[in-house]
Amino acid sequence: MGPQSLVALHKLQAVETKLRGLKDQLRRKDRHLQQHRLRLKQLEDQLASRQEEIKKRKTQVAQLELDFKAKEADVAKLRTQLNAAKNNKEYSAILTQLNTERADNAKLEEKILEEMTAIDQMGNSVVEMEKAIEVQRKDLATEEEASQEVRQELQRQIDALETERSTVAQEVPPSDLKIFEKVAEVHDGEAMAKVVKPTRDQEYICDGCNMSIPMEKVNALLTKDQLQVCNICGRILYVESESSKVSR
Ligand SMILES: [Zn+2]
Repeated sequence: MGPQSLVALHKLQAVETKLRGLKDQLRRKDRHLQQHRLRLKQLEDQLASRQEEIKKRKTQVAQLELDFKAKEADVAKLRTQLNAAKNNKEYSAILTQLNTERADNAKLEEKILEEMTAIDQMGNSVVEMEKAIEVQRKDLATEEEASQEVRQELQRQIDALETERSTVAQEVPPSDLKIFEKVAEVHDGEAMAKVVKPTRDQEYICDGCNMSIPMEKVNALLTKDQLQVCNICGRILYVESESSKVSR
């Protein structure tokens, strides 16, 4: 003798455990896909900002090239002036200026070349990034396709178990069902705990939280048709017996 609803509750627990396991699997699948999508998005963002940077630096180089051309024109003008110099003093003054301008221009040209090389390298990295993104996209598409079947199968099993759960739940008195559902929510689906006695000399403990159970509770559980819950963790207590050994 003991709580009559325990038999049905054990069945309910078995369904609940399976159901939670399947739902976890489904969640893990979704999370995995989500992480993959996120990785792809990060790569795409990196690519976009790299392309943006290239664009910006190309504009800067174009400006430098304009400066360079303007300075070249200055140099040409100074050459003409040099040829028309009226005396040595003027000649040497123009020559100094000409040399300075030419030195500046050489530096500028060097800078432009460096910048163009850098932009070229960035362009190469963009190609690499595009390739990597393409690979990721294909991987993701394959994964999405493959997981779709698995997800559908999981969902089918979950639906079937949901139906089974409502059928089994009908065998449990509403007040007991309420307790079960509340405890299951708190303990990740594990609503029931076995009463165990680790050794002859020790007191009874709850297998769910390992805390001791008062003797009068154990007695009530064995004699009364009323659910007993652990004072500490709230799990529905049961004593292993033939009636509680249902297939799980
Ligand atoms: Zn407990």
